[in-house]
Amino acid sequence: MIPACPICATKRNSVLDQRERVPVLQNRVWPDRASALSAPAGRLDMRLCANCNFAWNAAFDPKLMVYDSFYDNNQLVSEVFSDHVDAMVQRIITSLDESAEAHLVEIGCGQGDLLRRLARANRFASLTGFDPAFKNALEGHDANMTIHTCLFDNDTLNLLRHPIDIIVARHTIEHIHRPLDFLRTIRAAVDATRPTKIFLETPDINWIVENFQHQDLFYEHCSIFSKRAMHFGCQAAGFNLCAITSVFSDQYLWAEIDTGDSQLIAEPTAPSLLTADGFRAKRLDFVERWRDQIVTLGKEGRVWLWGASSKGVTFALLVDPDGELLAGAIDINPKKVGQFMPLTGVQVCDPTQLESGDSVIVMNPNYLAEISNRIASQQKSIRLLTLDTAHLEMSA
Ligand SMILES: [Zn+2]
Repeated sequence: MIPACPICATKRNSVLDQRERVPVLQNRVWPDRASALSAPAGRLDMRLCANCNFAWNAAFDPKLMVYDSFYDNNQLVSEVFSDHVDAMVQRIITSLDESAEAHLVEIGCGQGDLLRRLARANRFASLTGFDPAFKNALEGHDANMTIHTCLFDNDTLNLLRHPIDIIVARHTIEHIHRPLDFLRTIRAAVDATRPTKIFLETPDINWIVENFQHQDLFYEHCSIFSKRAMHFGCQAAGFNLCAITSVFSDQYLWAEIDTGDSQLIAEPTAPSLLTADGFRAKRLDFVERWRDQIVTLGKEGRVWLWGASSKGVTFALLVDPDGELLAGAIDINPKKVGQFMPLTGVQVCDPTQLESGDSVIVMNPNYLAEISNRIASQQKSIRLLTLDTAHLEMSA
């Protein structure tokens, strides 16, 4: 049976990628190799809708997902990512009505970092977060800030103490099995008589497919939007999509949504050009090329990847499933260092482990300059490679 698109209900779709055994959590590291090797796994059956270009995992089982306090997706230790978050904070602040203090809710707030940054603006009457992975340590936080250690759904809406002016959900909707229900829950949470703005940030399937970013398809991200799919989703949930832009070097979408209907931007009518053609075949080439590359580089020194989160976990699983070729995964998140990545059992190490003659494959090119500077400060001769170029860069 052909599955229908969860956003536009069209049954015309194609298989983008299928993988039999992938970790259900990318951002959960394990204390020893044995537990990492037996980490919970699921099946990937990524479909691409021919009408709205929404991509989803047709084999996704939400019962496998447990977002608890072991889940750690903190990327703010990177300055590049931190700067990006500041830029998004600025977008939210700019949208505020000059005359009043706003009540803001963040869905999937992690450890409350965005809420803390927003609090510094002194423009909010209340800041409320929802996240089951919150570790309950909001030290020295703003008196107006509350974080609920649970999902945001119909059962937890009654925790809200104020009408909502702004809802933010960054990197959340791609984790949700039924994203249309999620949008409708948000719609139900807002007061029809009050103007409410919603900001969503989420990966862009067009960027992944057009740039053959195979390591960006994984179990946690069961729902990946295109601009076009966001139009269809907002319309179906009773929202008005005011603007949708590409951010973070086009890797993510930033959607600005409200409940009005006066500024509807035109619904896309042109047929979609994005197709799944060749994506899987390219993945086989990609894996073979990188495996050969790692073996070749390994003759001169150890080979590492840099970035032990989503992209790194998937890259290791694709090119080194038994954890035999890579020396480890470098990461600057101190909570991950010393632990092991799921299924491959590749160990996470800090950058001081690097030695002259080693090679490092950088998972996200947005961090290349930051990584290069860090290595340069260690006075070591390391070869840096990125996934999107064939060129090698030397850093001394
Ligand atoms: Zn669709």
